[in-house]
Amino acid sequence: MDLELITIGTELLLGFTVDTNSAELARILASHGIRVVRRTSVPDSEHAIRDAVHEALRRTGTVITVGGLGPTKDDITKEAVAALFDGPLAFDQEVWEDILSRYRRLGRTPAGSNRSQAMIPRGATVLPNQWGTAPGLWLEGPPGRVVMLPGVPYEMRKLAEREVGPRLARLVATPAPIVSHVLRTAGIAESTLADRLGDVDEAIHPLTLAFLPQTAGVDVRLTSWDAPLEEAKRRLDDAAQEIRRRAGAHCYGEGATDLAAVVIERLERAGLSVAVAESCTGGLLAGRLTSVRGSSAAFMGGVVAYHNRVKTQALDVAEDVIAGHGAVSEAVALAMVRGVQARFGVEAALSVTGIAGPEGGSEEKPVGTVWIGIAVREEETALHRVYHGSRWQVRERAVAGALYELLARLPS
Ligand code: AMP
Ligand code: MG
Repeated sequence: MDLELITIGTELLLGFTVDTNSAELARILASHGIRVVRRTSVPDSEHAIRDAVHEALRRTGTVITVGGLGPTKDDITKEAVAALFDGPLAFDQEVWEDILSRYRRLGRTPAGSNRSQAMIPRGATVLPNQWGTAPGLWLEGPPGRVVMLPGVPYEMRKLAEREVGPRLARLVATPAPIVSHVLRTAGIAESTLADRLGDVDEAIHPLTLAFLPQTAGVDVRLTSWDAPLEEAKRRLDDAAQEIRRRAGAHCYGEGATDLAAVVIERLERAGLSVAVAESCTGGLLAGRLTSVRGSSAAFMGGVVAYHNRVKTQALDVAEDVIAGHGAVSEAVALAMVRGVQARFGVEAALSVTGIAGPEGGSEEKPVGTVWIGIAVREEETALHRVYHGSRWQVRERAVAGALYELLARLPS
């Protein structure tokens, strides 16, 4: 089933309130196999609401509106929708009793304006709202099907999960949930990854594939649109395997897997301990590693060697190496990683030195230039990277880059 969502509220268009309801509702509906094909936001204006609902009904026949069911003057969704259905609002004693009993439970008395929440379009089914005062409303008639939900996110979610999702699912002949599966990659640009995956779209048909670039890596989302759950899961598993095969070591996990957690797990499995030496990331790398529960199984510690004096004193980076090559250089990245490996007596080590910006760049070493040092036992490497973006993004990308490059050098 396809439907359209209309979120109502001037605050949404002004940008004061972020429309989280649309995202949440779409996810709940997808789990019931119902596809949101268009989303619209309109202000608290009767004609804007009416026009939006009217047009959406013409396209899909089913519309969910969110917001504008409160007790105040700007809450006019019911009036606007009722006008399309030739169903005038009438006072509903049962809904009013519900509101009264809710207030009694809370030890309060309703305001005069609450009576407006018991005004229901003729012919509407009431979706009881035990979490607030505005019930959901379900109207079916010649123009189509309109479900109205309150805007308060918690109430919207409860009504969507308990009432709307299941009721709509019953209208679908063979329910097929829309199911997604996410694969996470690092150390590869979106375009290069796309090249590597090649014509995988065809191989995984009828599943669809989407690239979701993030600061620290690219996620690949596979979606099944029309198969029963078991079949969908099987197809997604097969497709995930194919993507993994093509993406190689760049694919480090699935779902919400954390890159740092994979690194810790892999180190632990190989019986290796790790330490870090950080300049431009200032402890972010150690922070990422220690945010993993159980990280003490592999993580030993680190040095934030921001000033050159600390690079020399705490990591034994020779002064003339810094003077000769600059602090952001292959030689210093290598000296830092050797220094921390020796000082901490660890098998694996990482170092990061770079120019996070916004100042400090030069023609030869622009902002975003980062050298990453990686040591695993006697093997050591330094890699040159130029990350784009803000200071925050450069640092995030350097952390992800370092973690990925270490992972790529660990026994699998
Ligand atoms: P309403 O049902 O229009 O009275 O909305 C009640 C409250 O819910 C508003 O004051 C907003 O804070 C919040 N709200 C309304 N619409 C949305 C939305 N689409 N996403 C997130 N919050 C919303
Ligand atoms: Mg509102």
